[in-house]
Amino acid sequence: MSMPTDPAIVAARALIAAASRIVALTGAGISTESGIPDFRGPQGVWTKNPGAEKLATLQTYMTEPDLRRRAWQARLHHETWDALPNAGHAALVALETRGQLDTLITQNIDGLHQRAGSSAQRVIEIHGTIHDVVCMACGDRAPMQTALQRVRGGEDDPACLRCGGILKSATISFGQSLVIADLARADRAARSCDLLLAIGSSLSVFPIAAVVPAAKRAGAKLILVNGQATAMDALADVVLHGRIGEILPALITE
Ligand code: NAD
Repeated sequence: MSMPTDPAIVAARALIAAASRIVALTGAGISTESGIPDFRGPQGVWTKNPGAEKLATLQTYMTEPDLRRRAWQARLHHETWDALPNAGHAALVALETRGQLDTLITQNIDGLHQRAGSSAQRVIEIHGTIHDVVCMACGDRAPMQTALQRVRGGEDDPACLRCGGILKSATISFGQSLVIADLARADRAARSCDLLLAIGSSLSVFPIAAVVPAAKRAGAKLILVNGQATAMDALADVVLHGRIGEILPALITE
């Protein structure tokens, strides 16, 4: 699309200009241009290897030491450690600097929004973060990099240093509950915004995807930005299909 004159871009820019309380909901698609693969896009981890989805459950993690050892190896080599924020993350920082961004709900665990400059207090990491580990027995939290040092030093499944419990990245696995306070805050923000910007998500992971119809029901406008159709395109005022790193700057900063 020729960005500046594309009618959908023009319509979305007008909605953003008229909004004063914007909530952005981001998914894995905003980080693929930083080199972190998504799960369900054309190049997604699960699109290529559907069996991997079944391994990502809390129950298998807690009961299968071999799977934990593989999980620690995967964490050692996770794409996040070398990833830098991209133009999509930067555009959301600009929206905050202009005073229009109320809350940034992210499904991502990579911390790239904060790294780009989004204020931590505006970001809700609804699926947690890979930058910390948490003990599944005593709840102790510690930096991921400290645990990874122990893996490099030869511990293939490092246990909690406080109580010996099983350590896991501080992300929400399948079969694990979300943090109720985070979900409530995300829901409140969505129901009181005047524009919801859903970016780079298949909008098929619940309960967080439910903030989209909730915002719409409460009267907010809805813009969807994604590389392919989502489960909620029919609800949107404007749907933009294309690359996030090109579309968000065209909407916000150019
Ligand atoms: P998803 O994998 O279900 O969907 C991502 C969507 O983004 C796809 O529809 C894909 O077509 C689109 N997309 C990918 N790259 C794009 C680009 N450059 N421009 C435009 N669109 C693009 O992602 P999801 O809805 O966030 O759900 C997956 C879950 O897995 C999340 O809840 C998250 O917790 C986790 N996850 C996180 C990361 C991360 O932190 N970066 C990466 C993978 C998965």
